Amino acid sequence: MPAAFSDPVWRKPNAAAAFQSELSASGMLDAVIVGGGIMGLSTALHAARAGLSVQVLDTGAIGQGASGLNGGQVIPGLKYDPEWLTEHFGKERGEALVEFAASTADAVFDVIRVEKLAVPFTRNGWIQAAHTETALTAAANRDRQWRSRGADVELLDRAGIAAMTGARGYLGGWLDRRAGVIDPLSYTLELARVASAAGAGIAEQQRVVKLRRETGVWRVSTQGGAELRAKSVVLATNAYTDGLLPGLAQTIVPLHSFQIATAPLPADLAASILPGGQAVSDSRRILVYYRRSPDGRMVLGGRGRMALPSSAADWAHCERALIRLYPALAGVAIEKRWFGRVALTPDHLPHLHEPEQGLLAAVGCQGRGVGLMSALGKRMASYLASGDARQLPFPLSPIKPIPFHAFRQVGVAATIAWYRMLDAFER
Ligand SMILES: Cc1cc2nc3c(=O)[nH]c(=O)nc-3n(C[C@H](O)[C@H](O)[C@H](O)COP(=O)(O)OP(=O)(O)OC[C@H]3O[C@@H](n4cnc5c(N)ncnc54)[C@H](O)[C@@H]3O)c2cc1C
Repeated sequence: MPAAFSDPVWRKPNAAAAFQSELSASGMLDAVIVGGGIMGLSTALHAARAGLSVQVLDTGAIGQGASGLNGGQVIPGLKYDPEWLTEHFGKERGEALVEFAASTADAVFDVIRVEKLAVPFTRNGWIQAAHTETALTAAANRDRQWRSRGADVELLDRAGIAAMTGARGYLGGWLDRRAGVIDPLSYTLELARVASAAGAGIAEQQRVVKLRRETGVWRVSTQGGAELRAKSVVLATNAYTDGLLPGLAQTIVPLHSFQIATAPLPADLAASILPGGQAVSDSRRILVYYRRSPDGRMVLGGRGRMALPSSAADWAHCERALIRLYPALAGVAIEKRWFGRVALTPDHLPHLHEPEQGLLAAVGCQGRGVGLMSALGKRMASYLASGDARQLPFPLSPIKPIPFHAFRQVGVAATIAWYRMLDAFER
């Protein structure tokens, strides 16, 4: 694919670390982590800080997966509100999950502060924008539930959301001040840098092709012929999961999310468009999400087609959404276009698996993985260090491939087309 068709706006930090591209023979490791995105690196950092010996292997460059490509919105919470979680998981596990969900944005901003990561960020909140009365009612319900738990959140009326976003067409919305925005590529590379400084091995261009367990020891083979030995293996491959662990890829529906970035906004437009630097997701069925970048561009993303893009026209739906919200941006050039893969699970929750002792997998970020995977990685490291499954926020579950997985993509594409039509009617 020509580079112009995947040209992210995010920047590498000035002092980006160099990682291993060759593996030397090592002794027995506590854990090999497959996948060098936020999940793998957060696990590695916290495991190394806990004194474990860990090695991260990624098939390509660190940050090449969703972690270096995403919208950089750091949003706490899960798809479900606190009352749903306590009803479905019972009081004890449900409340623990609510606490975990509330903490996921903290996990990002805490690590940036504590580890002194060179990551551009703004922590001024995330707005869930409502364009229908139904969405407004859902926002009020969410606001009530989180406010009663002491979260710093606020319901916005029509004038309030218009002043904060400068966007057209919203009836109101919900502001969650626990949230913020980061440069996701810097964050991922900085996580890798500090994990490496803490003693974790980080190797690029190392595709893992085989896992087998012999006399209680995991043997991890790479395409290049290296073999590592470890007590545990963590698969942190998420939407980029391949056939390494049979059945795992069939437990998720991978979708493409496409993004665009304008040229840096002229001062007069910058003053009225997201002047406080919040992140926004709207309430449409096929939602769009947007924010300003550290260098003053408008960045907007939305669902894209599963086939690889072949021309700028494949991002036209993002450009239409941008102009619908901000007609004044009609003359501003779109300078960057890129895309990445998001993993959905049928129940919209992340799934944790341990199909054999010491073989762990975490999949399904539902497009909220920046906070979620940062927090989950920390818990995974505690599990590796203690062997206590209560450290994990979600129960370990069996790997259950989605029935008729191969046809699921066709169903998803049809559903997206249908939802786009319904959204268009509600404009
Ligand atoms: C365009 C886009 C926008 C998004 N926007 C947001 C947002 O604004 N906010 C938010 O919270 N979330 C967002 N997300 C979701 C978020 O990016 C992900 O949930 C998160 O980055 C997942 O991190 P991860 O470490 O689990 O997976 P990844 O970062 O995808 O890492 C998986 C890694 O595994 C490696 N791998 C796969 N197979 C192998 C193998 N066999 N051997 C070795 N390595 C392997 C891959 O190369 C990859 O680097 C977005 C995602 C996309 C794609």
